[in-house]
Amino acid sequence: MGCVDNSYDFVVVGGGLVGLSTARALLTRHPTSKVALLEKEDGVAKHQSGRNSGVVHSGIYYAPGSQKAQLTEKGKVALASYCREKKIPWRTVGKLIIATTPEEVPALEGLYQRAKEDPVGEVHLLDGSGIRGVEPKGSGLVALHLPDSAITEYTRIAKAIATDLWEAGATVLYNHELHNATLKKGEWHLETSQGVVNGAYFLNTAGLQADRLAWVAGANPSVRIFPFRGEYWRLKPESSITKALLYPAPNLGMPFLGVHFTPEMDGGTLLGPNALLAWHREGYERGMVENRQIVDALSWTGFWCLGGRHLRAGWEEWKRSRTAQAVAHSARRLVPSLPDNALQRALSGVRAQAVDQDGNLVNDFVVEESPQALHLLNAPSPAATACLAIGEYIAKMLP
Ligand SMILES: Cc1cc2nc3c(=O)[nH]c(=O)nc-3n(C[C@H](O)[C@H](O)[C@H](O)COP(=O)(O)OP(=O)(O)OC[C@H]3O[C@@H](n4cnc5c(N)ncnc54)[C@H](O)[C@@H]3O)c2cc1C
Repeated sequence: MGCVDNSYDFVVVGGGLVGLSTARALLTRHPTSKVALLEKEDGVAKHQSGRNSGVVHSGIYYAPGSQKAQLTEKGKVALASYCREKKIPWRTVGKLIIATTPEEVPALEGLYQRAKEDPVGEVHLLDGSGIRGVEPKGSGLVALHLPDSAITEYTRIAKAIATDLWEAGATVLYNHELHNATLKKGEWHLETSQGVVNGAYFLNTAGLQADRLAWVAGANPSVRIFPFRGEYWRLKPESSITKALLYPAPNLGMPFLGVHFTPEMDGGTLLGPNALLAWHREGYERGMVENRQIVDALSWTGFWCLGGRHLRAGWEEWKRSRTAQAVAHSARRLVPSLPDNALQRALSGVRAQAVDQDGNLVNDFVVEESPQALHLLNAPSPAATACLAIGEYIAKMLP
């Protein structure tokens, strides 16, 4: 690939798992190309990729044939092999998805049938005593058991991919925030906080900021990103009484999975995350407000439909987030012996969730094209699990 000095064939913006994986896949496909990765922070994985649950998802929730299902299936296999190669911790802990009311049972049975037709790994349907056999403190009517489900350390994966990029000759530029992007005479002029970077192709994998960067680059994205804060609680060591991933039965109409128990690599247990509509794209603390996000939200017709449709669910989430007791109360549906005083606040993350003009929370991954550019406008969970496959998918879309 031809390129002039100080100019790149591909400029990837965003040093999260997906941007890093995209840059890596581009170098694998075009080993002699010049690739730059721009990241506004002083290192990788400072946002979604480093503030998540650390779960390697099985893909059981996603509609067969959807891009999410396909890329998750491919991505988790690739990720397992990458972690083996790089000696990154990977612990198989198993997962129970538990129905605690009769109304939730048909949805789980439906998922079980679907999993048999479209395999997502080993899956068993358990009754109450089967649940206790896997997780002695767990309780429920029926559960799906996925014994192969695992946890890993996504920040370490991101750092390992960044090292791969350096070794393969890519330029990784930290503290380079993209402010403006102009396509002139077939070349992108990307104005950053530290000067201009030029490139033939611009790959926008900026997570929470991706729709804004698409606008800046002259594209007209079909969705807008809304930030949903997810708050976690950590079980006090003496109350860490579970071993597996424990999830409530999902509401398949929503992209969020409900408050769940997640084992951590160091032996701790996280509870959460909830899903609270936030007024700041990087609003990790309660009460953070960004004027620009207020304008972004209120000017999007989808926001008003979304508000009307999910007001009640949003209110319940908000109430639950106020006190540890309220969270413990919900979690006791899965583990009845969980004491009230078992939880302390832990980290929080913010999800980049695309909302369309009609107010739908978009479920699948969304990539949109503009001249010499690709914009990844929806990469919600399980994009960490699927990152290597998403990177390859994006790299293949380019000529
Ligand atoms: C609370 C929570 C829990 C989750 N749990 C899981 C899980 O257990 N398993 C799973 O598979 N997935 C999970 N996910 C989803 C997963 O973490 C994300 O889908 C994935 O990390 C998205 O990666 P990304 O690279 O697209 O975005 P990000 O990691 O957000 O990266 C985007 C990068 O772009 C940079 N950037 C933004 N604007 C600019 C700019 N102007 N110039 C330069 N750089 C810029 C940012 O600094 C950031 O580093 C979870 C997410 C959250 C928030």
